[in-house]
Order: sequence, then C-alpha cells, then structure tokens
Amino acid sequence: MPETTNDGSFILYDLKVEVIKPRGEHVCSHTVGDYFLLRGEQLSIPEGQFSIYSLAALMPHLTVHQRELNENDWMMTDDIIACPDPHCGGLFMITRTNKTVIRRSDTSVVPKDAKDRRALIPRLVYPNGIKAG
Ligand SMILES: [Zn+2]
Repeated sequence: MPETTNDGSFILYDLKVEVIKPRGEHVCSHTVGDYFLLRGEQLSIPEGQFSIYSLAALMPHLTVHQRELNENDWMMTDDIIACPDPHCGGLFMITRTNKTVIRRSDTSVVPKDAKDRRALIPRLVYPNGIKAG
C-alpha cells in the first residue's frame, strides 16, 4: 500500500535508469553505464547521453516504478526494458534509489475531493469568441 501523509503530500521513488547491455547491432548509441535520473517529474542526464527512442519505450514504466506497487504486480520484478529497435539488443534497468516527498499542490491544481473534475477544465475560447466544448 502507498504511504499516506496528512499534510497533502505523497511519496514517490526516485529512479535511476541505466544501460546494462551494449548494442547488438550498430544501430543505436547505447553505452553501458549511461544513465538518467528521475526525481518527481524531473528527468536529468548527469553524464553520457540517452536516445529519445529508448526514452519513449521507457516512459510507460517510469511513473509506475515511482509508485508503491502490490508485491504480486509484475511491474515489481520486470524492471529491465528492451530498446524498441528490434535489431539492437540494448537493455535498460530501472532501479529505485531514494524516496522523495512530493507536495500535491506542486503537481496539481485539482482538489483531491473535487466532485466534478470536468467542470475544472478551462473552456477553450477561439480568437473569434466562439467557445469550444
Ligand atoms: Zn537500441
């Protein structure tokens, strides 16, 4: 179960995503040891580089691995992700590092007890004054 707090905050794991296997073919630029860090919603690449195509394959996994999961959830153990290029063979390992306390007010303007969240969506108004939706 996720840890709860009474002060309007929640906890996310910080992640390190590292290249753990070199490329199989000469199609990508993965280098073993290249990595990026994710803390909250902020991604940083301290050294090396990281392919945007690899990042696209990793994106669906990142926010899941940041959160506490049920011990039976396959995402708890499946933390090695393959490069999306089928000729590559590159692998990336997602590792939880620390926990960070995130203030809800820093991440959302939607009150957690809002009944009709659709009413909170700003209405789009075109320059000619016509409202959409
Ligand atoms: Zn690759």
